[in-house]
Amino acid sequence: SQRVFSGIQPSGVPTLGNYLGAIRNWVPMQDTHESIFCVVDQHAITMWQDPKELTRQTRDMAAALLACGLDPERCILFVQSHVHAHTRLAWIFNCVARIGWLNRMTQFKDKAGKDRENAGAGLYVYPNLMAADIHAYHATRVPVGEDQKQHLELANDIAEKFNHDYGVEFFPHIDAHIMGVAARVMSLRDGTKKMSKSDPSDQSRINLNDDADTIALKIRRAKTDPEPLPSEMQGLEGRPEARNLVGILAAITDTTPEAVLREYGGQGFGSFKGVLADALVAHLSPIASEAQRLLADPGAVDALLRRGADRARAIAEPIVAKAEELVGFLPPR
Ligand code: ATP
Ligand code: MG
Repeated sequence: SQRVFSGIQPSGVPTLGNYLGAIRNWVPMQDTHESIFCVVDQHAITMWQDPKELTRQTRDMAAALLACGLDPERCILFVQSHVHAHTRLAWIFNCVARIGWLNRMTQFKDKAGKDRENAGAGLYVYPNLMAADIHAYHATRVPVGEDQKQHLELANDIAEKFNHDYGVEFFPHIDAHIMGVAARVMSLRDGTKKMSKSDPSDQSRINLNDDADTIALKIRRAKTDPEPLPSEMQGLEGRPEARNLVGILAAITDTTPEAVLREYGGQGFGSFKGVLADALVAHLSPIASEAQRLLADPGAVDALLRRGADRARAIAEPIVAKAEELVGFLPPR
């Protein structure tokens, strides 16, 4: 069966977008696939991170993932910087990938902002490290949100060029696995921008550790338009904020946006937002309390991550050593 790999940056607290677009889809894969999940701290420092915060956020992220249902008995959960095979392979990929390919990446353009000359070089080559994260395990199934689709296509281009340049069939093709109505959850302040844990505005997102009052307030303040909800999908056209809230309620209650509109069409946002906030609180508050419980023993979380890294290393080390041999590096032993 296919090996699954996915990662999340400890660049803040996981959001509802991360949960619906990625983490929630990881949980059932543990039963059907060999599954590897990674807290990607080396990706996180492509944008400035306060060192003490980064340490804490890395452990907090692991606790949140466990609270969402990742089970270290059924998956491998670890921290990227603990397994050096990723950056070794990323260096090779830096030399395989073409600058023209990287220039097309929209995430770089979004994150670098206007002053592109002053952006970190790491942010530019981020997609090569992401390709290495996946290919170091010969993983072929990668469950991510819609925003990562372009990076996965690049990871396939890199694998093809490596295989071609070195005359081998070494790195397999990756299937992107982008799921469901909530593969792209949008900001609560701007329905054309994706929800992000690193957005400067905390009001733009629901964090998995927000308490009930905070969730209710953020939803109440979420941007909407003055029209009532439509009863059919075409009524959402040109209304990105309305579409987003409908999509969130559908995802969190395991139904379709069509069904949500059948039920709430004709209503104003006032009552709809109340329903949405209640559904979010019911779903997210058990996750927040479980994460809190786990963090009462930080040493236990760290130990579990170290064990995960040992298991990850056992898979990645021989694959990356083989890639280095194919490149022609003199064997270190
Ligand atoms: P950052 O702002 O630091 O980039 P992020 O919120 O984008 O943080 P990542 O760690 O970059 O989160 O991505 C982790 C996973 O969450 C990826 O699979 C990504 O596709 C998914 N994801 C991120 N944001 C959203 C979103 N708004 N909707 C759906 N999925 C998302
Ligand atoms: Mg991101």
